Parts: sequence; structure tokens; C-alpha cells
Amino acid sequence: MNSYSVHIFDLDGVIYLGNTAIPHAIEYLNHLSIKGDKVYFFTNNSSKTRLSVAEKISKLGYTTNEEQIISSSSIANEYFATKNYKSAFLFGELGARNALFDNGIQIINDSIPLETILDNDSIKCDIVLAGIFRTATYSHVAAASLLLQRGAKFIVTNTDPSIPIERGLFPGAGAMIKAIETASGIVPEIIFGKPSPIGILSLISNLNLPETNFIMYGDRMDTDILCGYNANISTALMLTGAMTREDANSYPFKPTYIYNNFLECMQ
Ligand SMILES: [Mg+2]
Repeated sequence: MNSYSVHIFDLDGVIYLGNTAIPHAIEYLNHLSIKGDKVYFFTNNSSKTRLSVAEKISKLGYTTNEEQIISSSSIANEYFATKNYKSAFLFGELGARNALFDNGIQIINDSIPLETILDNDSIKCDIVLAGIFRTATYSHVAAASLLLQRGAKFIVTNTDPSIPIERGLFPGAGAMIKAIETASGIVPEIIFGKPSPIGILSLISNLNLPETNFIMYGDRMDTDILCGYNANISTALMLTGAMTREDANSYPFKPTYIYNNFLECMQ
């Protein structure tokens, strides 16, 4: 691990599970900082702001700030700044809301009741932005589905099927997006989160360092490891979350390293 100077970490299943730190994770982060390495966190969770993610990590014992947080919402924010969308249906939470708000995109479901959207074919919007949405109802899924059929572009923060918590797996953004996709028969056109390499590629370009300096740590092959692979950087599969060594073998791409825990990374 000494050949890397920029370390990018997934959060759920790597740094913490729910509100509990993964054993040795905080110790490893502090070890890297003392060494003078750069540390970043890349989360597909669009329900929280970067500041609240930074505060959560800091509370667990590693002092961090929002500039170290890459989220599907922060990537969305950068993307919307380059587009000219005027109106959106928001199927999501605070992080996704901020990405729209910061770019002056009107959220139609803030001012128009869901029943009106469902009943009136003339109500349209430029995009449907979907992510994790823990208070979603049947009517939200129906409205998103109808607006896509009325011509809105389908954009999603990420497609993670599940979120690991202490007691098992909770539905992730992907599980909820599938409801809209299944109902409408329309698939997302743009995905911001991992495994899309957009976030890592922009970090490489911002830091202006060789890509051989970068490593991505994650607990999922299909998001974290594929993201690093797509961005052409080294990867470490951490067996502290969603996947086992056997799971890793079933993918056509391989992580550069597989570790049981961060203690092994320090040896
Ligand atoms: Mg994870």
C-alpha cells in the first residue's frame, strides 16, 4: 500500500456498518494521514449532504471535511452545472435535492400535488432524478413513471441494490429505481454513482497526479471495484461488507488486492 498516495474509500461495509466503525478502519485512515497521504471517501448514498457524511466519519474518530467526500450527488451537481435543465421530478432525498436546487432546477413536486401530476397529462418536466427515497409511496413511483412516459429524461444517482446495516440488507437506490423502470419500461439514461468512473476521473484530473498513485477500496465488486477498474486505477476488495472471496471470483474483472481487514493493509 506504500506505493499509493491517494486512497479512495467506499463507506458502507468498508469504513462503517450503520453507525458502527468497521474494526481497524479508523486506525488505518489515521495511519495514512500521519504518513501524509490523501484520503477521500466515495459514497453512492444520495440521501445525505457531503457535510453530514464528513461529520459522521469525524464522529467515528477520523477528522475529515466535505472536500474529502465524493458523492453521487456532488457528481450530479457538477453535471447539472453543464446542462440547461429547467424542471425536474425529484424521487429522492436531500443530497439529490441540493444538486437540483444549486443549479436552479425547479422541483415540480414541491409545488404540484402528486394527484395532480397523475391526473393531468399536460404536466411534464425535463428530467426525473431518482435515488434512494425512504419515504417514497406508490404515487411517487406512479408519477415518476408517467413523467418518463411523457418524455422526461431518466437520470439516477446510483443503482446499488442494497445497503448493508447491522441486521442485514436494506433496499438501496437501485431497488427503488427498478420499481420505476419496471412500471414504465424505461431504463435510466445517466447514472452518476459507482461503477461510473466519472467521480474518480475528475479527482485524478483535479489533483493532477499519475493514476498509478490512486487506489480504490470497496466491499462490492459490481460498484466499487468495477468503478476503480473503469477508471484504470488499483483496487482493494475489503471482505468486511457485502461480498466474500468466492463472490469476487465470479466476476470477469479482478480486484488488485483482496483483504480481510485493514490490519492486513498496514502490514
Ligand atoms: Mg459498500
